[in-house]
Amino acid sequence: MSFAVFLDVDGVLNTIKTCVASPDGHIGVDDRRIAILAGAIKKYGGADIVLTSDWKNKRIGDDLQYLNGKLREHKLEISGTTKDHWNNRGQGIIDYLKEHTEIDEYVILGDNRFDFEKYPKLWERLLITNGIEQAAFASNTPAIETMIFHDYIKDMSS
Ligand SMILES: [Mg+2]
Repeated sequence: MSFAVFLDVDGVLNTIKTCVASPDGHIGVDDRRIAILAGAIKKYGGADIVLTSDWKNKRIGDDLQYLNGKLREHKLEISGTTKDHWNNRGQGIIDYLKEHTEIDEYVILGDNRFDFEKYPKLWERLLITNGIEQAAFASNTPAIETMIFHDYIKDMSS
């Protein structure tokens, strides 16, 4: 039994207005937004973090170390990554869940819809972000745990 957060990075832990840069010169991540994620996860009682972001493929070396270091400052750790082509992230999550049957509940954070709507269970667990502090339900009928996690994000953002 465990809870997982499927985490996108760009548009969640930063926005296009973010001024910090990663070691490789891309947009970095905002400490304030990582703190919101950490606070919500703590309030929920813990979560595995699974990276869905294309940081998993395109940011090798210094940038991944930088991201891991930033998360570690807030006692967070990436426990896995999905495998997919960039625009099939829903399929990547479905595959990950098949291999990790211990995950019985989860939420998906990201600023894009990709193929998520094809999978009702994913769609009901998707929070569309513009920076994590602005998280909106993708579905009109979100999963209850997603509603709870959304509340915790709001609590941490205020
Ligand atoms: Mg993104």
